[in-house]
Amino acid sequence: MQTDYDILIIGGGMVGASLAVALRPLPLRIGLIEAVEFESNAQPSYDDRTIALSFGSKRIFDTLGVWERLESGGATPIHKIHISDRGHFGFARLDRADAGVEALGWVVENRALGQALKHALAETANLTVFCPASMEDVEFGADAATVSVRRGEHIDRLSARLVVAADGGRSLVREQAGIDAHRTEYRQTALVTNVTTEQPHANVAYERFTESGPLAFLPMSAGRCAVVWSLPPDQVESLLALDDAAFLARLQERFGLRLGRFLKVGRRAAYPLAHTQVSETVRPRLALIGNAAHTVHPVAGQGFNLGLRDVAALAEILGDAQRDARDLGELALLQQYADWRRRDVSVISTFTNSLVRVFSNDFAPLGIARNLGLVAVDLLPPAKRALLRLSMGLAGRLPRLARGLLL
Ligand SMILES: Cc1cc2nc3c(=O)[nH]c(=O)nc-3n(C[C@H](O)[C@H](O)[C@H](O)COP(=O)(O)OP(=O)(O)OC[C@H]3O[C@@H](n4cnc5c(N)ncnc54)[C@H](O)[C@@H]3O)c2cc1C
Repeated sequence: MQTDYDILIIGGGMVGASLAVALRPLPLRIGLIEAVEFESNAQPSYDDRTIALSFGSKRIFDTLGVWERLESGGATPIHKIHISDRGHFGFARLDRADAGVEALGWVVENRALGQALKHALAETANLTVFCPASMEDVEFGADAATVSVRRGEHIDRLSARLVVAADGGRSLVREQAGIDAHRTEYRQTALVTNVTTEQPHANVAYERFTESGPLAFLPMSAGRCAVVWSLPPDQVESLLALDDAAFLARLQERFGLRLGRFLKVGRRAAYPLAHTQVSETVRPRLALIGNAAHTVHPVAGQGFNLGLRDVAALAEILGDAQRDARDLGELALLQQYADWRRRDVSVISTFTNSLVRVFSNDFAPLGIARNLGLVAVDLLPPAKRALLRLSMGLAGRLPRLARGLLL
């Protein structure tokens, strides 16, 4: 059966758009359907946030030819990470020198990532971007999947060998396929903003665990730090209601004077946080990637990095299958992707959930144990190496793109 496309990607957020870019060297007909224009203020993926890209993710973007634009768009290297437990003795330091690399990661503004990906998509000859256009309905048949796409008043029905769901944590594709998603609220909301600090950040990222939730300061361009402050939802509401001066005073009280006084604050936004685990990531003619396949707490800055490794693994499997003239929607093929990604997703989910649970607990013996844990990471080279590999996105089996190799 002849189909309109080989692959239809639903969702052109940072993960879906990255997949479209990764697939561009392959002689495939690809369609990308995105509901909200990339530059729109309503864009849920390319918004005011920043992303801490791991060393491994930087390598993937380098291989895809996207990195140069991100670098000139203000990507800021992280040279050191300082992890501490507010009011307790323990802390751990990770340094690029420990890993022998130029940076442990980079902080990139989501909007800059959107622009870099949009530019790369525009250079892709075998790709059709439908935007703004919403997937309304999907049916999976024996030889093809059929997707109904709304553009204004107009509805198209498009067929493909494979549908990739990259439509985020509340994935409609996943729901229509009848795949169960178990969502557990963390009962924390992330308050996201940026601050200009009196003293330069010197490319240090701070992760400070406090009794109400983790507070991260990430080095950013123009003397700013990106702030991700996870708190109980009612506290976030009252912080959002404060004027800038009162908000900065509260933030300063939590973070301390390590970066001097806070001079200026950017726009504030709130994101309720949940962990999502899905029962399956593939079905015949369907693969789930990014937040459609898993959501994790932003405490360790791993969600997108995990999604980008989904992209690199799926692209590699599809590239090999295309060369072998296999059906790209065949379950046995997609199962290779599911098997490959299972362990990484499980390790990162367990790691982030443990951080949130252990560090949000006031139980005194647990407080001592976690501080001893931080000291151990600081002093014991094997513990430090393991944490470095995990946070740099270099643990487990790496896809070709993460090793600097083409598909
Ligand atoms: C506060 C916060 C901080 C974070 N910090 C980090 C970090 O430092 N490092 C990190 O790695 N990760 C971080 N993350 C996680 C990261 O934001 C997500 O992992 C990432 O956004 C997932 O991208 P995605 O493309 O899978 O999904 P999304 O970003 O949700 O994008 C989904 C896209 O699909 C589109 N869409 C949805 N439904 C349809 C439809 N029916 N038809 C067409 N299009 C549709 C949407 O418009 C959207 O563009 C953070 C998350 C939060 C909340």
